[in-house]
Amino acid sequence: MDARHAILFEPVTIGPKTLPNRFYQVPHASGFGSARPRTQAAFRAIKAEGGWGGVCVEYAPVSPDTDEIPAIAADIWDDRDARALGLSAEAIHAHGALAGLELYHGGASSSNGGSRAVRMAPNQHTAEVQWGGLPKQMDAADIARIQRAWVRAARRAVDAGFDIVYVYGAHGYLMTQFLSAHTNQRTDGYGGSLANRGRFWLETLAAVREEVGGECAVATRIALHGDSGVPGAEGLPGIHADEMLKLVTMADDLVDLWDVTVGSWPEDSGTSRYYPEGHERPWAHRMREATAKPVVAVGRYGNPDLMAEVIRSGAVDLIGSARQAIADPFLPRKVAEGRLDEIRECTGSNVCILREETFNHVGCVQNATAGEEYRRGWHPESVPATADRARSVLVVGAGPAGMECAVMLGKRGFAAVHLVEAEPEIGGRLRWTRRLPTLGDWGRIVDWRAGQLAKLPGVEVITGRRLTAADILDYGADLVVVATGSAWRGDGVQPGYPDPMPGADPTLPHVLTPEQVCAGKRPPGRQVVVYDTDGYYAASGVAELLAADGFEVTVVTTYPVLSPVSDQTLEGDMLRAHLHRAGVAAVHATTITGIGPGSVTGHDRNGEPWSAGCDGVVLVTQQASHDAVYEELASDEAALAAAGITGLYRIGDAVAPRMISEAIFDGHRLAREIDQDDPSQPAPYRREPVDLG
Ligand code: ADP
Repeated sequence: MDARHAILFEPVTIGPKTLPNRFYQVPHASGFGSARPRTQAAFRAIKAEGGWGGVCVEYAPVSPDTDEIPAIAADIWDDRDARALGLSAEAIHAHGALAGLELYHGGASSSNGGSRAVRMAPNQHTAEVQWGGLPKQMDAADIARIQRAWVRAARRAVDAGFDIVYVYGAHGYLMTQFLSAHTNQRTDGYGGSLANRGRFWLETLAAVREEVGGECAVATRIALHGDSGVPGAEGLPGIHADEMLKLVTMADDLVDLWDVTVGSWPEDSGTSRYYPEGHERPWAHRMREATAKPVVAVGRYGNPDLMAEVIRSGAVDLIGSARQAIADPFLPRKVAEGRLDEIRECTGSNVCILREETFNHVGCVQNATAGEEYRRGWHPESVPATADRARSVLVVGAGPAGMECAVMLGKRGFAAVHLVEAEPEIGGRLRWTRRLPTLGDWGRIVDWRAGQLAKLPGVEVITGRRLTAADILDYGADLVVVATGSAWRGDGVQPGYPDPMPGADPTLPHVLTPEQVCAGKRPPGRQVVVYDTDGYYAASGVAELLAADGFEVTVVTTYPVLSPVSDQTLEGDMLRAHLHRAGVAAVHATTITGIGPGSVTGHDRNGEPWSAGCDGVVLVTQQASHDAVYEELASDEAALAAAGITGLYRIGDAVAPRMISEAIFDGHRLAREIDQDDPSQPAPYRREPVDLG
């Protein structure tokens, strides 16, 4: 270990417990909850195995009057739930880490879609979302009942083996709803002054402490609301950092560990597009004004030098991590062993959050094994050797899918793995994506894999060579993996319009694809329309690039908002404000059906004719797979047999254009399963519940 990182491996005492080091996986959702306890346990245990000294499970509703159905939480309503979650505590302990459970009540922000219970809130008007009815203003009995539920949940958690229990107060949930004068206008002892608005929180902390204090550490998660000035990042109005710090002083005796978040969730889990590593520092570090107790704060820290510096500054005691711990569960071990170049850095793209927000289980663009530890038995750092090492594999195309597949095949010990790429540089679509404004950190996907490919003895990377089907047959490989990707069509085919759009021809000077823009093509005049039916990063990235080049850019989108997918990554509001500031105009819910010289035509949301003048149009409509090489090879079994090719497979966008994370998953899966009978189809995976007895 490098001496400058030694401070990260010092133990830290939190109440009656001692963390073995300063790496702390803060609570974050997985989509497994207490309903899939073995999947949950394996997902958390891998982080403990990788060296995280504290590992928490996700938010755990203390009572049935708070659920986020269809999102899955770690309910701890009864002893059965506690037994299920106890598997995680046990699995985390097996690797010497402490286990934490984030006891939670969402109050007005609950969906209660499962329980159909009325939502609880300090006041009826508290709920920001009003559809489906308003919450009940909690009376004294409700307050006492929820506090009792919290205490019972804490008891169950400790009996199930947890070392740290939370009173979750951040992210706008029930504690915060009481604390904020904006949402709490009660006139009883729970409203009015800060002491009154904080009473629900303080009483709950005291009751939990009385029940389990001394047996476990009591943590509380708070939000320091700064003034970042970023639209969408202010969170729940009404509590400023200064006021929160006063509450910290009042509650300090009741707390063993302060878990500090900053602003709202979109700000705290800010994407790399809009927030640098450690952006919360100025706010999180203000905690020292109010407490000498241990403090953990996140910051998407992936750089151990920065982590050590943050600890040395004395402002925080633990490096909190959710996203980086998903991207690389073995980060602490790699730091301990001085293998810094092995660290799989989080890209900050929030694909993990997008998956959760769309009610899928956790996933990661950098770490294809995340969430698959129990389901598929995958481990982020090891893969079984192939049964037949003598075989050689040709991977055609070095995009995300091809790169990942080649890395994993190399690790499996194949005699020779050749990764052949047509372009002078590897990376596939990331070659241009990483050069779009704000998307630079996505390049980490390429950089980590490039580093691995260079180290693996059996792997050779060949660039600048576009292979035809005949070249592939002549290559001499036993196995062939086609990862030739996809490209933006440029012909205007879009959902509901299967035929090419009149006038959509990207060989014309005024019709462009995103790849062409990134390669330097520009429209003939100043006014440009970016037409988006894709809804994610490409249109916004290209629009910003062109605006920075001095073009007058309008994004026309079929969606009611610009880049709706970015709402699932928590960056939608920031992205829209950012583009607005960059001078990019937006036209929503509008369909373009024709491109003429100097204009685009179509219809608006009511079906009324719509048109706009422009000098050029960038078509971000649909992508098409580059599947010709695969189809040609697959159609001639005799030629494959004559060439000695015993397996031909296709992965990534060449199968179907998808998100980068899914292309990587595809490449990873094939490499792991390439020895099975039919590797083109995923092997069955383990599901829960398994016991129907
Ligand atoms: P994916 O996300 O599935 O990896 P990409 O489109 O990002 O797909 O990357 C595919 C890569 O394959 C691109 O870098 C492209 O240049 C390369 N490629 C496409 N066809 C060939 C070919 N015939 N020979 C070699 N490389 C190819």
